[in-house]
Amino acid sequence: MNVLVLNCGSSSIKYQLFDMPAETVLAKGLIQRVGEAGSEAVQRTNGTELRVERPVPDHRAGLEVVKELLTREDGGPLRSLAEIGACGHRVVHGGERVTGSVRIDAELQQIVDEYADLAPLHNPPNLTGIRAAIEMLGAIPQVACFDTAFHQSIPKTAYLYGLPYELYERFRIRKYGFHGTSHRYVAGRAAQLLGKPEAETDLITCHLGNGCSMAAVRGGKSVDTTMGLTPLEGLVMGTRTGDFDPAIVFYLLRKGYTGGELDTLCNKKSGLLGIAGQSNDVRDLEEQAGAGSEQARLALDIFAYRVRKYIGAYLAVLNGCDAVVFTGGIGENDARMRERILCDLDALGIVLDPARNDATVGTAGRIQAPESRVALLVIPTNEELAIAQETFRVARGA
Ligand code: ADP
Repeated sequence: MNVLVLNCGSSSIKYQLFDMPAETVLAKGLIQRVGEAGSEAVQRTNGTELRVERPVPDHRAGLEVVKELLTREDGGPLRSLAEIGACGHRVVHGGERVTGSVRIDAELQQIVDEYADLAPLHNPPNLTGIRAAIEMLGAIPQVACFDTAFHQSIPKTAYLYGLPYELYERFRIRKYGFHGTSHRYVAGRAAQLLGKPEAETDLITCHLGNGCSMAAVRGGKSVDTTMGLTPLEGLVMGTRTGDFDPAIVFYLLRKGYTGGELDTLCNKKSGLLGIAGQSNDVRDLEEQAGAGSEQARLALDIFAYRVRKYIGAYLAVLNGCDAVVFTGGIGENDARMRERILCDLDALGIVLDPARNDATVGTAGRIQAPESRVALLVIPTNEELAIAQETFRVARGA
């Protein structure tokens, strides 16, 4: 079965076409600057690269470009869209009513719309993509895979904040967590690598990319995660603060900042960028730190310290674990950062093997020393494949 995976972001459309269950990638495409000047689409298929450069005013027009590229005679992988058997959509926020990947119907679309309030940059384009794909692809199964779904197993003691309970009842204010597709995928792969049933494996998964989050995973189920009501909570990220005293917001409001300015400050101008002042890309910061920049070094140290702190917290949540798993652009590639995070944790049973760590870049591997009680794993994430697997599973069951 050919499964199309769509990820409609605020100004981009990423897509991949898989042959399932073989998991072969038949095409991979990206449309950038949707709704902006200078839109462009690129699709790669087994050695062929196709490009389209013309205005793409909205996601509906974007999906027309996807259709054109997938079926182009000079290198598109399909003769017609009728060869697509199912379509999987990445959706960010499914709130409390979605606990797994589900076949899309009118009610599900209403849920995505309802939670647009909590994910204003993501759910609206996700929903537009869903509606356009239904129009374009007809009656085939369409499946939604939510970033929040994997974390719906988190218990109330972990997902409620110390706020008046009434706010939970009135506004559903609670921790939801994100990156669930990635945490679930690497947790499954980690159990395979460890040669243990997932139901008997306890893990701390660290998704460290531009956005960063960690999860405590007990027996294949998320029991806590660092992101919260929104992706702002938890780790220090590329441009987001992560945890900080909310009274800072009240203080800055009194100093004349507006709510909108503080939103931008906390989400777009903080984190590595805000501390180092130059870049949110750890490659730049590693280079600057290597050349003697104290500020870059400080940003990297603060980033690593927060991850260490949550490893400690989640070791307590899980009462020890089988492995700590690193994924995402930073987790997969930055051996220096993994060393900063994992050094001097031997009393907790965590001992890194420096040579293995240095040798494991952009690929799966074990990086712990023989005496480490806890396995340390690097596992490249693959959210598109995870969505294709879920879509295939749900579509076949349907
Ligand atoms: P996103 O969260 O947008 O999907 P990624 O998972 O690709 O982002 O992660 C982006 C981060 O990964 C950036 O901070 C970047 O510096 C880092 N990164 C990507 N490749 C490397 C690399 N080869 N070495 C070190 N860091 C890398």
